[in-house]
Amino acid sequence: MVDPLPSGEENARRLVDLRRQIDELELEFSREAAAFDKTTWWDFEGFNTAADWIRFNCHMTSHDVWNAFAVAGAAREMPATIEAMHSGEVGFAHVATMGRTALEVGGAFDEAKLLPLAKTYTPGKFFHQCLHYRHAVDAEGYNRDQEQLREGRYLRLNTARDGCLVVTGLLDPAGGAAVRSALEPLAQKSGQNDDRTRDQRWADALEDLSKGGKPAELQVTATIETLKGMAGAPAADVEFSLPISARSVQRIACDCNVTRVLLDQDSTVIDVGRSKRLVDGALRKALVVRDKHCQWPGCERPASWCDGHHLVHWIEGGETNLDNCILLCKRHHRMVHEGGWKLVKVEGRIVAVAPTIEFGVARGPDG
Ligand SMILES: [Zn+2]
Ligand SMILES: [Zn+2]
Repeated sequence: MVDPLPSGEENARRLVDLRRQIDELELEFSREAAAFDKTTWWDFEGFNTAADWIRFNCHMTSHDVWNAFAVAGAAREMPATIEAMHSGEVGFAHVATMGRTALEVGGAFDEAKLLPLAKTYTPGKFFHQCLHYRHAVDAEGYNRDQEQLREGRYLRLNTARDGCLVVTGLLDPAGGAAVRSALEPLAQKSGQNDDRTRDQRWADALEDLSKGGKPAELQVTATIETLKGMAGAPAADVEFSLPISARSVQRIACDCNVTRVLLDQDSTVIDVGRSKRLVDGALRKALVVRDKHCQWPGCERPASWCDGHHLVHWIEGGETNLDNCILLCKRHHRMVHEGGWKLVKVEGRIVAVAPTIEFGVARGPDG
């Protein structure tokens, strides 16, 4: 008996067929759009351009409208490419990229050079090939465009009412690539159970990068009560931000990467600056040699991205020595202090103990 359901093969064929029909319609749409541009209808309806009218009434992105105009505008210079689309050798996406390239390079355009590439590469890769081609025939123009993109760069840092920093910005391709390549290694998952979203990992990576792998120099003003996490203690003051929680201060102070100003109850300064609690110098070197990477079970973030962590906090009398200190990456250091996880040494091995209740949901050990 024949299976009544379409087989995968039939399904696949239908997809390709449908896409070819859609591509043909896209081509027709582009011709129609170009013809519409020559009418006065869009003006009559109060739009600034035909593209705006199409974008609004045909529910399209400006990128797609621009593609339609580019294909219509360059159709005469790429007859073989359009022929190749009719025969299914390339898609409308190739044709659109070809059209845009033709308009960008003007007289230097040579369809014969690009068509074999369109037939070989996926639309995404072909787009890259076209950028190389553009540079090859008009390096100056390409550079001018890149410089123009650079003109649009900006980075806005706004502190919201709740103390959060709102970051928005735009970087030119070269600047963007530099930032991406610096952040990418830091934004990787830190283990199988790393349940941070991709966006959260990017945010953490930016924070890590800002610290340059070194302890951040933060100016924190806190009372001993806050540092000890005693009930009723005020929050801690930090430069450039709203007051932060006792747990965060404990984490920051753990590696003593703060310019501390401790106050007693009468707000008299009783301790300013660093002390020998700092995990630095010879101790830091010894820690790096011994631990090599984050000591959270299963985590292998390298030492350069780790904080020194006191198993027993110095504020509770823990010593700043090899026995009481381990390396922890920023995320795991935060999980211990702010997240309520406990790290205990059992026969020389570090074991992570989950907080008793974490929003009522049990969770596997990170690693
Ligand atoms: Zn710590
Ligand atoms: Zn870690």
